[in-house]
Amino acid sequence: MKKLIIAIDGPSGAGKSTAGKLLANELGYLYIDTGAMYRAIGLKAVREGIELKESDALRGLCARTDVRLAQGEGGLRVYLDNEDVSEAIRTPDMGMAASAVSAQPCVRERLLQLQRNLGEGGGVVLEGRDIGTVVFPEAEAKFYLDANVEERARRRWLEFREKGIEAGLQKTIEEVKKRDYDDSHRDIAPLKKAADAVVVDSSGLNIDEVVAMMKEKVLEVAGI
Ligand code: C5P
Repeated sequence: MKKLIIAIDGPSGAGKSTAGKLLANELGYLYIDTGAMYRAIGLKAVREGIELKESDALRGLCARTDVRLAQGEGGLRVYLDNEDVSEAIRTPDMGMAASAVSAQPCVRERLLQLQRNLGEGGGVVLEGRDIGTVVFPEAEAKFYLDANVEERARRRWLEFREKGIEAGLQKTIEEVKKRDYDDSHRDIAPLKKAADAVVVDSSGLNIDEVVAMMKEKVLEVAGI
């Protein structure tokens, strides 16, 4: 079977990561979480006290920063200058920091190149906001995964609770709404559905149903 490029885009909490990992597993594909890369840059900027809208400082930071994804035990690990930051990037604050730095062209240019290098050989599921529109507009299978905002925020909030992170439900709803707005209104590579993406609304579906729908589409594209 031809090794496809599969793009999954959509707002935060829509289930992209869970569905993307399961789909990649079923197909024997590599799973690439592009949001994790933006989170890693956001983490470094916060640690260095860099103003998140300061493009010159962020350009300098990108030039001396190494972000790497690698398969480890229990899944994908994220390395920032060789430090494993897989857990450190999964906080509400890092979601907001990632969103802020991701609006900066210098950050996007840097990560775009990395993402294209990782995915160009095919056999990959890439998940993010601009995969089907900017990173791989030629991807053979594109999905836009969505769910209503309350449901997405509730999922995020439950994830935080499981990790012992105290985040109020109302605050999580507000943050998800802000991120939705900022991600879809920025000038460069805004979150939007690619014209040829299949929309999957996961609001009333369980994850197995979502993955089954995606897999059916992928096999159809692959001519199986
Ligand atoms: O998907 P995740 O919540 O980890 O993404 C964090 C932030 O990174 C998003 O809110 C978005 O601003 C940014 N992002 C992006 N483009 C991508 C992936 C993530 O701008 N392809």
